[in-house]
Amino acid sequence: MSIDDLRSRDIAIVGAGPAGLAVARLLQVQGIPARVLERDAGRDARRQGGSLDLAENAGILALDRMGLLSEFERLSRPAGQATRYLDHNGTVLIDEDAASSVEAEGARPEIDRASLRDMLLDALPHDAVEWGRAVRTITPTGADRYRIETSDHTIVEADLVIGCDGHSSKARPLVTQETATYAGATFVGGDVTHPEPGGLLDRLTGTGTMFALGHAKVIMAQRHGDGSIRVYYAFTSDTAPARDEDMAASQVEVADRLDTTFSDFSPDMRSFFGQIDRDFGWWPLYGVPAEQRWNEHHRLTLVGDAAHIMPPFTGQGVNMALLDAVELVNALTSDQYPTIDAAIRAYESTMLRRMRTAIEETQQAQAVFLSPRGPEQLLDALGEQGRREIS
Ligand SMILES: Cc1cc2nc3c(=O)[nH]c(=O)nc-3n(C[C@H](O)[C@H](O)[C@H](O)COP(=O)(O)OP(=O)(O)OC[C@H]3O[C@@H](n4cnc5c(N)ncnc54)[C@H](O)[C@@H]3O)c2cc1C
Repeated sequence: MSIDDLRSRDIAIVGAGPAGLAVARLLQVQGIPARVLERDAGRDARRQGGSLDLAENAGILALDRMGLLSEFERLSRPAGQATRYLDHNGTVLIDEDAASSVEAEGARPEIDRASLRDMLLDALPHDAVEWGRAVRTITPTGADRYRIETSDHTIVEADLVIGCDGHSSKARPLVTQETATYAGATFVGGDVTHPEPGGLLDRLTGTGTMFALGHAKVIMAQRHGDGSIRVYYAFTSDTAPARDEDMAASQVEVADRLDTTFSDFSPDMRSFFGQIDRDFGWWPLYGVPAEQRWNEHHRLTLVGDAAHIMPPFTGQGVNMALLDAVELVNALTSDQYPTIDAAIRAYESTMLRRMRTAIEETQQAQAVFLSPRGPEQLLDALGEQGRREIS
């Protein structure tokens, strides 16, 4: 299969998250057009929230291949790598500045999710993403083509479908019967847009991220590029909270419930919740098994969370999504494979092997962060017992 052959095919990418935009950009760099179908009504339809750390051998490598490294360096925050681990009373147990984090884990500069998405969107032609087109069905039509129907009744025909549509992927059922299941933990939180300068939240978060661990729960706070702080309260529960029902509950009602759930944390640590004034929401966490069985399929594949959603405890989700995009486009544009299906099989076999390890690591990290022993298991794992309080 040649690049010219691929250029003449109809390629549909479902979803304009980091995975879909990365695939589109990497194809574009090789002069291969693709249609990107996105559910959101427009690029500003919903706030993107959160900060992501990109690893040198994954997310950063992908941005380099996309020709976006200098833009990433301009927008990313190396100081965001500073990490503090606390106990449930806010006592600092481990205080890693950005330089020691780099030494321990390699460079993983932070970038706001919104900045990453804007950077990827700006790199594409302005009409590359077809907004407001939620894919409803993807149907094989024989002759190795697919018929995609979207919420606005558009019909898109494609020779190759790349499912980058995250958690509830419409493409995934064509590949496997294994669905993502609730991972036993939920995040509730949002942004504190103007943290009080020198206040406890501001001091504990610093330029990076803080985790306060205790009694199978975590309070997490992450600095954004605009100075705001995203606060998450994470706890375990056997069943996923009813997302719609809980979303409808007011922040005050939820605050009351969380005050009870986190009653073994100090009042100061519990008080951050009341400071949230933007993007309040629930994120029941989902994951797929480390060992996935995928059925035979043709001219269709999955990238990013659609392929391997996992809880965020090792910060690998977006990195793996961007690396998938590189490996898929490498396989498709290499002259090593005689057909699109052969290229897809090569990509999937490497990706599924890589993801087995990543998902297992994430499951282990979740058990450590949400340990009933609080931070003790983390301290054992990090081999560090030095305790230091912020004065
Ligand atoms: C609370 C939380 C914190 C996280 N923190 C980190 C972190 O620090 N580091 C990290 O690496 N990862 C983190 N992650 C994970 C990371 O956000 C995901 O792994 C990453 O966004 C995956 O990208 P994606 O493009 O595959 O999927 P998504 O980001 O989910 O994008 C999917 C896109 O598809 C669109 N879509 C969905 N359905 C359809 C449809 N039917 N038709 C058309 N479009 C559709 C969606 O609107 C969306 O734009 C976190 C996740 C959560 C929940």
